[in-house]
Amino acid sequence: MIKSSVLGYPRIGEDREWKRALEAFWSGKLEESEFHRELQEIRLNHLRKQQEKGVDLIPVNDFSYYDHVLDTATMFGIIPKRFSYEGGVVPLSVYYGIARGTKDAAASEMTKWFNTNYHYIVPELEGVSPALTENKPLLAYREAKEKLGIEGKPVIVGPLTFLKLSKGYSKSETDSWLGKLLPLYVQLLQELEAEGVQWVQIDEPILVTKLSADDVQHLKSIYETFAAAVPNLNIMLQTYFESVAYYKEIVSLPVTGIGLDFVHGFSGNISSIKEVGFPSDKILGAGIIDGRGIWKASLREKLKVIEALSEFVTNDRLIVQSSCSLLHVPVTVRNETKLLSELRNALAFADEKLGELVLLAKAVSSGGTGVTAELEECDRVLQALEHSSERNRKEIQHAVADISGQQPKRSVPFSERHLAQQKRWQLPIFPTTTIGSFPQSAEVRKARQLWRKGDWDNEQYADFIREQIDIWIKLQEEIGLDVLVHGEFERTDMVEFFGEKLAGFAFTQFGWVQSYGSRCVKPPIIFGDVAFEEAMTVEETKYAQSKTERPVKGMLTGPITIMNWSFVREDISREQIAYQLAYALRQEVEALEEAGIGMIQVDEPAVREGLPLKEEDQANYLAWAVKAFRMTTCTVRDTTQIHTHMCYCEFHDMIDSIEEMDADVISIETSRSHGELIHSFELNTYKLGIGLGVYDIHSPRIPRVEEMTSMIERALRVLDPKLFWINPDCGLKTRGYQETVESLRNMVEATQIARAKHSLKV
Ligand code: GLN
Ligand code: ZN
Repeated sequence: MIKSSVLGYPRIGEDREWKRALEAFWSGKLEESEFHRELQEIRLNHLRKQQEKGVDLIPVNDFSYYDHVLDTATMFGIIPKRFSYEGGVVPLSVYYGIARGTKDAAASEMTKWFNTNYHYIVPELEGVSPALTENKPLLAYREAKEKLGIEGKPVIVGPLTFLKLSKGYSKSETDSWLGKLLPLYVQLLQELEAEGVQWVQIDEPILVTKLSADDVQHLKSIYETFAAAVPNLNIMLQTYFESVAYYKEIVSLPVTGIGLDFVHGFSGNISSIKEVGFPSDKILGAGIIDGRGIWKASLREKLKVIEALSEFVTNDRLIVQSSCSLLHVPVTVRNETKLLSELRNALAFADEKLGELVLLAKAVSSGGTGVTAELEECDRVLQALEHSSERNRKEIQHAVADISGQQPKRSVPFSERHLAQQKRWQLPIFPTTTIGSFPQSAEVRKARQLWRKGDWDNEQYADFIREQIDIWIKLQEEIGLDVLVHGEFERTDMVEFFGEKLAGFAFTQFGWVQSYGSRCVKPPIIFGDVAFEEAMTVEETKYAQSKTERPVKGMLTGPITIMNWSFVREDISREQIAYQLAYALRQEVEALEEAGIGMIQVDEPAVREGLPLKEEDQANYLAWAVKAFRMTTCTVRDTTQIHTHMCYCEFHDMIDSIEEMDADVISIETSRSHGELIHSFELNTYKLGIGLGVYDIHSPRIPRVEEMTSMIERALRVLDPKLFWINPDCGLKTRGYQETVESLRNMVEATQIARAKHSLKV
């Protein structure tokens, strides 16, 4: 009998009830005991669903009060010193303090969980002595057993992954840290074994990244230690998100099962299995249902994968699994009533994926009989989507094939453009500007609501937006900024806004996924050929420009960011999708230029996020990402100035690609990358226009003039003053009115000081 299993289930609930409970608790509206009760209800409900669907091995301890990495850290008593914690079970006040900050102590940093849009809390090891504070997996196991009779599979983050994702220790301390952590893991596992737990899933996604010889050595000693300590516990050593780099070493570790991703790491893992084989005494956890994608699987194709695997593993040693935790997909398609039927029928979110896994296990066990109807139904819906007119915009396909065959290039090189643009704009040295958005005040949000509900008609809403533009154009002039923006008051979200106006997109009603903590996002779905239908930003930009003599930048979100923040179709490559987006956005760029807008900013904050985990795939991704940006922007006149903006993560190791984007001006966040970016400009000179954010917009604090002066001076040590711009480090939409105005006034003052000091020299 082949078994089915899941690596983790979404926490947020069908209607984001998890999020609401957390926020109610934080705001003091929910008592702690009631809060625990509500979360338990949610948790049990998720287990019940998996039980009812018939999943064989149901994960427990995948649920969290915030984040599973934070759970692991607090379970091991890894609490930064600045939080007052005296040992024992970690109170919620400390737990949430680490996640969100308290009035006395800053929150821990958070960062992306591998190449997903989920963010985990980075454990801080410095100065702490770990100790097991409670055995969470054991509690979760008992709960599932007592309440529902489920023989659960506790999930824990493995020691190597945990350590490598932590900070506050040096490489040379790895051994000593493992020395401290392993006994705690052992104690935890021994308690599980003593309880009679059958399977435990130890997540080691770090195994799909590049490991050093030392790491591999550590891996061996970790799992040898476990094998000796808990001989009767079945350990599923679980990897995901890519193929493993050290297949041979990994499959010879002394564990009962090895979990591999046969969706995102398909080719790598399949070729390893073919080359090396699979040990006959082990169980293979075959991740064949995509835990990150939203599409229904072709069950026939999946059966073929299982068939291919069965050459190496007998069916009784095979578990069909999701490729990773279902945390990364929405809960269910069930409540989506507004989607095109050909799209809706082809979607599978978490709950539907449970069904797929169970069906596949059944199909294999029964030798393919008894599931014919399901297989046929599956073929039918997938074909309907394939034949949808949305996926068959021939003119788009031809146009995109045509332009992607060429090397997109501005008509003259930057040095020449730069002179032509200087002549046209006559900007002072160190031009000042902002990143695009101004505060989305309660009033702005209210207006949008009224309009969306139909209480306001289009004209009323447009009038309101124009008023906001008037106010902020005047303010920007008064503050003394050189290059203005219209403020983006008409946009809620920089991807959704464009997705709603382009063809080829769909929006779910409830398709939320957790991004970090209680924050959820509802990514658009790019399911058809993307097409430009009508100008999207021209009205507001043109209006803003009509109100001032100074240049107003047009504002677009770039193709790579739109793609990386959406769920995308899988019948064509991401590269092709990026080119379709680029082609559509290029038409917007041209429309802006046509309307007399001479500076156009194409934001690409999410380029870095799409970077493949495998180093060998990165150059290719960057090449087509750069190409897509250039496709979007290359057709404008020499005197039209193309800007771009990047933020959110570390860019210092991709400066070459950024330069190749060939934007006339880039504004880039530096305040959170701890000087690494500035350092990288010491190593290579950046030859195009650049503004390093001189203050951090993520804090409500008003930066002092001197702070910004020193930021400017620091940057000017490595950047050409003739190409240097001054701006905040990101859009201002989350800030208040007063703080924005005061901060920008200080920024202009700092600029004047810098101008006085440097203008004689250039
Ligand atoms: N232009 C956008 C804004 O200012 C950029 C946002 C971003 O970088 N994420 O809001
Ligand atoms: Zn930004």
